[in-house]
Amino acid sequence: MGTGTLQIDLQAVAANWRMLDAMTACETAAVVKADGYGLGAGRVAKALAEAGARRFFVAVAEEGAAVRAALGPGPEINVFSGHMEGDARLLRDADLVPMLNSAGQLARHRGALPDAPYGVQLDSGMNRLGMEPADWAALRAEAEAGALTLLMSHLACADEPDHPANAAQLRTFRDMTAGVAAPRSLSATGGILMGPDYHFELTRPGIGLYGGLPFADATPVVRLSLPVIQLRDVAPGETVGYGCSFTATRPMKLATVSAGYADGLIRAMSGRARLWAGDAPCPLAGRVSMDLLTVDVTDLDTVPDALDILGDHQGVDDLAEAAGTIGYEILTSLGARYRRPGAVDDRA
Ligand SMILES: *Cc1c(COP(=O)(O)O)cnc(C)c1O
Repeated sequence: MGTGTLQIDLQAVAANWRMLDAMTACETAAVVKADGYGLGAGRVAKALAEAGARRFFVAVAEEGAAVRAALGPGPEINVFSGHMEGDARLLRDADLVPMLNSAGQLARHRGALPDAPYGVQLDSGMNRLGMEPADWAALRAEAEAGALTLLMSHLACADEPDHPANAAQLRTFRDMTAGVAAPRSLSATGGILMGPDYHFELTRPGIGLYGGLPFADATPVVRLSLPVIQLRDVAPGETVGYGCSFTATRPMKLATVSAGYADGLIRAMSGRARLWAGDAPCPLAGRVSMDLLTVDVTDLDTVPDALDILGDHQGVDDLAEAAGTIGYEILTSLGARYRRPGAVDDRA
């Protein structure tokens, strides 16, 4: 076996959804965009539907169609990017609900699919997607006249609960949605943790389902194990890898393992991340290359057949910190070459 093995624990994903659901008195949806944060949108969505999720969110209609194929009819699938040019057939055939972001999208949707449901995304201050207060004031009556299923907005700083932008966005969202009959949604994972003021009728967690911060109590979901291809001894003064950036300062044993930046183990991890042999940490030595990592295993009595880069001792956020990024990016970068065995109890 030359490739790494990525274990995805779907029961842990379901357990995380239940924990987040239990923190609110409202409905809890599930965000499965970017192929379920890199873990496989179809099987993640199926596990969550079994756990009780009835609403899903994706970034674009094409992703929604894939999730619909996995879930079958029933659960509601919402599309953050709204109704883009050319989407009408996909939205209709896959029974997707676009979150309309502009006057143009509202006109396009109501023109192409007059009776089809839609949500509206409001910009409460992030300035990324959604109708601004003035747009919304002008369009509200028209939007409410159709099959409006949801009003949503998104927080820019929910991972920093004390950031003043949170309260400001909450106020703006409340003002913009006052008196509207449709259900409202403001919070992703971070907002759920900020308490009931932020919950409204529906929450939309993503990263917390997959074991990432800011949901510190999440159950870990992924384990990534990389096979050792070759072992060698290196003498003091010898260098390792591209650019000769690492020089041995003692007699070393070096393991070359199969995975690299083409598998999402980004080059910024060079010299900073560690792999693990059971409980023993083994630092990277030299640069991460496309398909290979070189690892200092000098202090191990015996070198196992594979080393873990994600597991009990190093979760996605630990690895992210070592690489100067966030857990979201580590997860969504996990490569296509890994073997992904039916996750623990994957009945898909
Ligand atoms: C990605 C996203 C979410 C989920 O966010 P997490 O931080 O992963 O929980 C929710 N809503 C919108 C609009 C998003 O883009």
